[in-house]
Amino acid sequence: MNAIEDFQRSLEHLKKVERFRSLDPIRTDGAYLITESNLRLCNFGSNDYLGFASRRTQREGQGAGSSALVAGWTDSHRELSQALAVFEQTESACLFPSGYAACSGVVSTLAREADVIFSDSLNHASLIDGCRLSKAQCFIYPHRDVNSLRLLLSEHRANFRRAWIVTDTVFSMDGHLAPLVDLCDVGEDFEAGLIVDEAHATGVLGERGAGLTELLGVKDRVSVVIGTLSKAIGSHGGFAASDETTINYLINHCRPLIYSTALPPTSVMAAANSLKTIQDSFHERKHVKSLATTLRGLLGLVVEDRESSVPIVPLLIGTDKDSLAASSRLRDSGFYVPAIRPPTVPEDTARLRISLTALHTEKMLQDLVSCLHDR
Ligand SMILES: *Cc1c(COP(=O)(O)O)cnc(C)c1O
Repeated sequence: MNAIEDFQRSLEHLKKVERFRSLDPIRTDGAYLITESNLRLCNFGSNDYLGFASRRTQREGQGAGSSALVAGWTDSHRELSQALAVFEQTESACLFPSGYAACSGVVSTLAREADVIFSDSLNHASLIDGCRLSKAQCFIYPHRDVNSLRLLLSEHRANFRRAWIVTDTVFSMDGHLAPLVDLCDVGEDFEAGLIVDEAHATGVLGERGAGLTELLGVKDRVSVVIGTLSKAIGSHGGFAASDETTINYLINHCRPLIYSTALPPTSVMAAANSLKTIQDSFHERKHVKSLATTLRGLLGLVVEDRESSVPIVPLLIGTDKDSLAASSRLRDSGFYVPAIRPPTVPEDTARLRISLTALHTEKMLQDLVSCLHDR
């Protein structure tokens, strides 16, 4: 069988088990999205946590033209990376074509042969791919289970040169927070570096919006912070912030950074503007967090204190079929709440995932909840 036939067969299988996805163009209008067939739906599927991307007017796109090391790096790129280092309180930072490239690139580059990686079982696919691409050995520890991680480290740490612990700070499909302080303790006890992905925390958590590392006061205990410019920052691209040596190592060895076109200057400038605004966006941060707490209250969901303000609210359904049906019923009532199915989440844990942004109102939440209760 040739490659194309092979691909085709696998797609047929996906269709058979109702896991085939297609790209459906949409436009956004504030808190609403407009489908190709002109349906106007209140949008609960966006990561634009502070409403920045929806507020910005569209600009002419203009690519960087080449990779950062060749001729794609501009003053704006440098200024943005310096601003990110200040934001993350690190010596240095570098930019990536996307958050995905940053996560997969940083983990696969920093964890080398003779090293070992310990990765949370619910980490984002981009971190998992970093583990897979790395020449290091990888152990997966049960989700947020610091005791199991300790056991794994005491059993295996001595057999490897360097050890790395890799985790999301906000888990994107569950709204969980990583036990970062404990992970810092374990890392220090076993001389393991800690690599964290703040994709869903940047802009949202912490007084200045600098993530869970800021909220918990552990910025100086983390080896590398990875983030995206595409969620609350409302632009496009990824970044890593760390000490100068680590960043220079990435600039010299990290393949997605070396072999991919640098970010378009328009994305860079948009991100730089957002980064300035984000630190003063106390009102938006407060609003989206209060919405999250309100929604959990309306739904009777009880979670740990800090977690109640995470603007990702999953409603566990179980089967793919039921979650698609629930999503479709909400759609018929004017709400877009995506059904999240395997392989994005573990088997039998398909769910509705409600993402809140500062553009939502309490009234929208009440309407959504009465619609959920009606079913
Ligand atoms: C979205 C996301 C990424 C990837 O970021 P992009 O900029 O969209 O490529 C990485 N990690 C996590 C946890 C994410 O949610």
